[in-house]
Amino acid sequence: MSEYKILKIAEDFYSIEQDFVRCFLLVGEKEGLLVDTGLGGNLKEYVEEITKLPIKVIFTHADGDHEGAAGQFEKCLMHPSEFDYYKSKNAGAVEMDPIWEGDTIDLGNYCLEVILIPGHTPGSIALLEREKRFLIGGDSIQTGSIFMFGNGRNFDAFRASMMKLQGLRECFDIVFASHGELTVKPDIVEQLFVVAGKVMKRKVEGKPQILHNRTVNCYELDGVSFFAE
Ligand SMILES: [Zn+2]
Repeated sequence: MSEYKILKIAEDFYSIEQDFVRCFLLVGEKEGLLVDTGLGGNLKEYVEEITKLPIKVIFTHADGDHEGAAGQFEKCLMHPSEFDYYKSKNAGAVEMDPIWEGDTIDLGNYCLEVILIPGHTPGSIALLEREKRFLIGGDSIQTGSIFMFGNGRNFDAFRASMMKLQGLRECFDIVFASHGELTVKPDIVEQLFVVAGKVMKRKVEGKPQILHNRTVNCYELDGVSFFAE
């Protein structure tokens, strides 16, 4: 596991990258909010280089590359639809507090609203900052390949979630992604909706690939891609 790399995105807003995945840190007036914890490792030390404020962690979802260093933090938040999945992989699972659709985390300088976007996983969330007009999209909105194979992945739900985000299209100008390019344009949401529909109807040709010890197909079209069976 490699080290984390810190990048300052804006005042009190950081990206912390590790290998192929990134988490985000927002430093509020009284506390810091960490969005995901990467693959694992000494993340807390890196966070403490940026701020000594108490840290709350919110998970975009429970895939292993996002909850790796969860155990280093006391206050962890996750959508309850991820609880079983998270616990099934972690013998010493950290106690998670629930967050729900529409909940807001007000840090003073940043205010993030929870938008439930199932599909990639059942309890995947995005975080919307309405005043600063950005969205943190987790794995569901990115230029890298979105994993849509295995337990709980659901293309119908994914498309419904992209439709939901389209309805919020007027509220954000930029999306921060967990994989691939750091920032993507909101137009990608419609692209993902369309291409996911074509993949479901087998209108995109899949290229076989071995991933996590199984053969899956990579479906790539118009700058977005999915790994699926
Ligand atoms: Zn991921």
